[in-house]
This record gives sequence, C-alpha cells and structure tokens, in this order.
Amino acid sequence: MTIYNLFDERGRVVGNIRGDLGPHCPDCMGVADYLCDYPVGDDLTCDRPMCERCLKCVAPNIHYCASHAKQWENFRRNGGVAQQLKNVVPFPATPFFFFLRQGIEGRAYVSTRH
Ligand SMILES: [Zn+2]
Ligand SMILES: [Zn+2]
Repeated sequence: MTIYNLFDERGRVVGNIRGDLGPHCPDCMGVADYLCDYPVGDDLTCDRPMCERCLKCVAPNIHYCASHAKQWENFRRNGGVAQQLKNVVPFPATPFFFFLRQGIEGRAYVSTRH
C-alpha cells in the first residue's frame, strides 16, 4: 500500500490517498498520472513521473517536467524553433509531383503566350 498526497485546488495538502496508483510525483508526492514527453534521444523520452499539477503542458498531449519545460522555454526564447525550421531541408519532389508541376507550368506558359 502506497500513500499519496491529496491536494485542494490551491495546492495545499488536504489529506492522502492510499492505494497502488503507480509512481509518485517526485515534486509533491501526489499521484503521477503523466510522464515527461521531453525527447532525450534514441526515440526515448525523459519519462519523469508527474502529477497533473506539476506538469507543464507545452502542446496538446505533450507534457514536460518542470526542468525540461524550462529548457524548452529557453530554447524557444533564444529563437531555437525558428533556427530549427530554417535547417529543415525541403522534402524532395517525387517524379510524379515534378511532372505535375511541369504540366501546370507548361500550360500556364502556353496560355500566356496566346
Ligand atoms: Zn506533483
Ligand atoms: Zn523531463
């Protein structure tokens, strides 16, 4: 049997829950319903257990622990996202798309000539 803290909406401990509800939130000893989704390489994520109160929601269904949310926030503030987008190589056009584009441009060329 494990004991977890129970909080009111102001974050005060108002009691505890006993049971086997999985890992504790290391920050507040509440029930950790979430794991940190921060990528740490090799398709792995941080996986730090977090409760609903301690996680930081950075995108729909993406939750970061407090320290990773801070890292992400710094990265974003320093223009990291824009920098990353600039480095993205355009997806190579497939032959089909190439011919389609040629066809459209060819027709546009002909129609402007007449
Ligand atoms: Zn917590
Ligand atoms: Zn984390």
